[in-house]
Amino acid sequence: MSDASAPSDGDGRRPRDRPRVAFFDFTGCEGDQLQVINLEDRLLDLVEVVEVVSFREAMTDHSDDYEIAFVEGGVATAHDERRLTRIRNHADAVVALGSCAAFGGINALRNDQDFETVTERVYGEDADSITSYPTARPIGDVIAVDYEIPGCPIDREEFVQAVTALVNGAEPSIPNYPVCLECKFAENTCAFERGETCLGPITRGGCSATCVSAGTHCWGCRGMVDHPNEDAYTDVLEANGLTTEEVIEEYQLYWGWQREQRTVGDGGNRPVADDDHLPIGDGGAR
Ligand code: SF4
Ligand code: SF4
Repeated sequence: MSDASAPSDGDGRRPRDRPRVAFFDFTGCEGDQLQVINLEDRLLDLVEVVEVVSFREAMTDHSDDYEIAFVEGGVATAHDERRLTRIRNHADAVVALGSCAAFGGINALRNDQDFETVTERVYGEDADSITSYPTARPIGDVIAVDYEIPGCPIDREEFVQAVTALVNGAEPSIPNYPVCLECKFAENTCAFERGETCLGPITRGGCSATCVSAGTHCWGCRGMVDHPNEDAYTDVLEANGLTTEEVIEEYQLYWGWQREQRTVGDGGNRPVADDDHLPIGDGGAR
C-alpha cells in the first residue's frame, strides 16, 4: 500500500510512481468487476502499473486517495447521486465500466414500465421498502464521465487496453464502428440471411461479434455506435419486411435509456423531475 513517509506534492496528495485506482459498484450485477478479477494471472501485470486502493469485490482496504475511478452499475437512488458526486470530486478521471454505467444498460429495461408494478413483481410484499427512483440512469446523467468501457459484461482485453492507455496518459480506444464490421471479418452468415433480426448494424463493435459467431444475433449490449446510420438500417429492415418500431420493441433489453433519450431528442442528460424521486434510500455502500 502507500508509503506514508513519502513527501507531499503540495496539494495534500503524495507523489507516486503508479496511478492509484479505485473500483466502485452501483446498481448492477457486478459482473464487470468480476471480469477484472477473472484476469487472474494478468492481474499481477496490472498491479505492476497501477495501485488498487479500493475494490470491494476483491479487497477489504479502502482509500479515498485515487486518480482513476472505475464505476460499475447505474444510478438508482439519491444516495447513489451523492456517492457519485463524492467519487467525481476525488478522481482525476472517471471511467464508466460496463453498459449499465455507460448508457443505462439492462437496468433501464424498467424505465418504460410502471414502477409500482415492477417493484411488486420483483420484491412482492417488500416492494414498499424499495426507495429507488422510477427511472434507472447511467452515471453520466449525474456526473461528468471521462471514458466509457461498454459491454455486458466488459471485454477483459478491452479493459486491459484501456488501463494501459490511461497509465500512459493516452485516451482508451473504444471502437466506434458497428458490430457488422467484425461480423464480416469473422465470416459469419448474417442473421438477416437466416431470417432473424439483429442490432449489429447500429451497435458499437469491439466484441468480435461474439454472439453472432456463437450462432445467435446481436442484442446491442455495447450500446449504440455514435451517429448510427439509421437510414441504412431502416433500409435493411424494410428489405426484410420489418419496421424500426418492431425491432426496437423486440430489443428493449439494453437500450431503455438510449431509446428514452432519443425520444426526448436532446441527446442525453435529461434531468430527472423532482416528482420522479421517491424517498431517499440509504444504499449503504461506501
Ligand atoms: S448478423 Fe448482425 S452483426 Fe452480423 S452482419 Fe448481420 S446484421 Fe451485422
Ligand atoms: S454481438 Fe452484440 S450483444 Fe453480443 S457481445 Fe457484441 S455487442 Fe454485445
